[in-house]
Amino acid sequence: MFAEIIAVGSELLTPHRQDTNSLYLTSVLNDLGVAVAFKTIVGDHREHLTSAIQIALNRADILLLSGGLGPTEDDLTRECVAQALRLPLYRNPELLETLRQRFAARNLQMTQNNHHQADQIQGATILPNRNGSAPGQWLDVLYNGHRRLIALLPGPPLELQPLFAAECKPRLAAALPPSHLARRQLRMTLIPESLVDARCAPIYKTFPDVETTILAGNAEIQLHFSCVKPTQAEAEAQVEAAADAVSREMGDDVFSSGGESLEEVVLLMLGVRHHTLAVAESCTGGLIGKRLTSIPNSSRVFLGGAVAYSNRSKTALADVPAYLIDEHGAVSDAVARALAEGIRRRIGSSLALSITGIAGPATPRGPDSQKPVGLVYIALTDGKETQVKELNIRGDRERIRIWAAQHALETLRRRLL
Ligand code: ATP
Ligand code: MG
Repeated sequence: MFAEIIAVGSELLTPHRQDTNSLYLTSVLNDLGVAVAFKTIVGDHREHLTSAIQIALNRADILLLSGGLGPTEDDLTRECVAQALRLPLYRNPELLETLRQRFAARNLQMTQNNHHQADQIQGATILPNRNGSAPGQWLDVLYNGHRRLIALLPGPPLELQPLFAAECKPRLAAALPPSHLARRQLRMTLIPESLVDARCAPIYKTFPDVETTILAGNAEIQLHFSCVKPTQAEAEAQVEAAADAVSREMGDDVFSSGGESLEEVVLLMLGVRHHTLAVAESCTGGLIGKRLTSIPNSSRVFLGGAVAYSNRSKTALADVPAYLIDEHGAVSDAVARALAEGIRRRIGSSLALSITGIAGPATPRGPDSQKPVGLVYIALTDGKETQVKELNIRGDRERIRIWAAQHALETLRRRLL
């Protein structure tokens, strides 16, 4: 069975509003074992909406519509669904009465256009909307000989979500064959997506019942495994087997198999190994500190550090000798090393990380002026030994900063393995 979602609203076709309802609906449908085959966004336009509905009814078993149930002239969803199904629309007196009471209870005047919200498609079940005035509607109909399940849902997410969960999810579950969904996720970083796929695809392709997707972004690769089976145990066993096989192939490249972020994993490993951490950040301006401190209780292992952005602050906050900066430039192996060693001594941690680099777009003046944008040095020290990495990161300022922070955390994770 496939579903289509139609998000109705001219505002969704502007740069100012985004359709998020379909994301929520997709996640509930996926939990029920139903894939979304199409999503359509259509403005408040009678012909366009009717034709979108007809197209959807021809190709999808389940059609969910969001928005356009309000009282105004441009709220056309009820009319257009009725027209596409060639079913009459009639004003339901009971619904009208419920609406009247709703307005009266709120001391609001009910105007004539509100009456539209009591229009019901013949054969539809009314879905009560506890959080708004426009009720939803549910249809289980034959369209050109095919069974179609259709829901008309209010646009505001705070109305749509509870209504869909309470009224539509059980109806869909009852109409579908028993199915259970299991998911697993593997996360890796700093490896090209194509390389991950080249190594993993031959393995996950041997699990035809498991759907595998690769998602790449923000210096991270995620492999998502999902499987739908008549029982939860069968579905779990399948995703488990696929994820484990891929995990064996990728070995230590996999930093998380339970959905944890890189910073969570690093904090966990630091704790287990009884380490504490300090950080001196130049071009990342606190990105690592932000990521680590966004995890509750991280102070047990992350002691703190400094945003040592200017040359002077590198000396003032981490005792980097000024002559080192003059001689080698702030973006250098020597300064990265001194930054990490200096911040470790100052904070009194067992380990320390430092980052110094050129995030661009312009190159700095002085001794770094001949160095390319994207040149980054990362240092990791334990007080006895200091490891320095030179990186050349491509991209704009934001990307260089994100990748530099990611490299530093990954360097630390590898050290802790
Ligand atoms: P109302 O009775 O509020 O008019 P409605 O069913 O007609 O309900 P719309 O008028 O289409 O809903 O949308 C109301 C508001 O809900 C929009 O201004 C928008 O903020 C939000 N909304 C509508 N559709 C979506 C969507 N697909 N994703 C996220 N928000 C949406
Ligand atoms: Mg509207």
